[in-house]
Amino acid sequence: MKNISSKRVLITGGSGFLGSHLCERLLDEGHEVLCVDNFYTGRRANIAHLLNRPYLEVLRHDICFPLYVEVDEIYNLACPASPIHYQFDPVQTTKTSVHGSINMLGLAKRVKAKILQASTSEVYGDPTIHPQPETYWGNVNPIGLRSCYDEGKRCAETLFFDYHRQHKLKIKVARIFNTYGPRMHPNDGRVVSNFIMQALKGEELTVYGDGKQTRSFCYVDDMIDGLIKLMNSPDDFTGPVNLGNPNEFSIHKLALKVIEMTDSKANIVFKPLPFDDPTQRKPDISIAKKVLQWEPKIQLDEGLNKAIKYFRDML
Ligand code: NAD
Ligand code: UDP
Ligand code: UDP
Repeated sequence: MKNISSKRVLITGGSGFLGSHLCERLLDEGHEVLCVDNFYTGRRANIAHLLNRPYLEVLRHDICFPLYVEVDEIYNLACPASPIHYQFDPVQTTKTSVHGSINMLGLAKRVKAKILQASTSEVYGDPTIHPQPETYWGNVNPIGLRSCYDEGKRCAETLFFDYHRQHKLKIKVARIFNTYGPRMHPNDGRVVSNFIMQALKGEELTVYGDGKQTRSFCYVDDMIDGLIKLMNSPDDFTGPVNLGNPNEFSIHKLALKVIEMTDSKANIVFKPLPFDDPTQRKPDISIAKKVLQWEPKIQLDEGLNKAIKYFRDML
């Protein structure tokens, strides 16, 4: 059903993990959705259940090339997000963040659309401040294996703020922290999908390093709420704003939890830590709480149960 205040919303990366949930939520809210994706890491299966919805349009397109469409809002999510995928073709990763952002900002400028950038906690690199507030400028290696992603996303933030200052664009920048849930790519090497798949298949869970490094995991539904609240926030609020769950877990503890929750007989095996792997990560979400009245509602056990069910059904 279309609602009376329906908007035309472009979602780049709309067939990916987060993008597919966002397409679904905005269609449910009665908006027209244009899902643009080059299917690099996204899958048609993620949006297959939406293809019969009359207000969804899907376009195969690489945002590194110009795009001329008429929309009211743009969520710029296109970019491979897992280390395996973004390091597979690092030049393309930087191009997607930089050329892709320029094209989407040019589009927003021409049609006067509001535009939101899916930035990342990786802009903080291996942080020396804990938890990370938005005012922290980060500790990022500019020439390492993660740099194509980290520096690409940092440059995209620069472009967003320059289009805002120079061309008065309405921008929103979300710094997304580790998010998990159904429709994560089962082979993208991210820790939650890896551990659940390994546990369900009875394979050894691969903990990198000593497993003492930490991450804070946000369930996808909470993240989608946060992104939509940010898009709908007053025009003078640009962010950057951290979105994530501040509950911090060590990777070793996560492995033990997944084994317990899946009733798996699998063991843990320790493997070398990837280069430049951040040691700690936890968002300071005071700004999101105050300005967006947002905070995550779904804690790790509940969210993991839903993710485990998804991967079990898939197997
Ligand atoms: P994902 O890989 O599932 O989705 C990315 C989507 O972008 C895919 O569908 C892919 O095919 C598409 N894409 C990639 N390059 C493209 C291009 N040049 N043109 C058009 N489409 C392209 O990843 P995700 O987890 O859904 O992440 C979505 C966004 O959120 C990304 O920008 C990512 O950097 C950001 N983010 C995600 C997380 C997380 O934990 N999931 C954390 C921080 C930031
Ligand atoms: N662009 C686009 N769609 C549009 C308008 C612009 O893809 O509807 C692209 C175009 O390729 C352009 C880029 O966005 O190079 C940046 O646009 P902008 O107007 O900021 O700068 P230009 O390069 O046109 O001076
Ligand atoms: N990790 C791990 N085993 C895996 C996959 C990842 O121990 O099978 C670790 C990884 O080294 C990192 C953390 O889990 O410390 C989160 O990794 P992920 O790739 O999910 O996200 P990111 O490093 O981008 O936060």
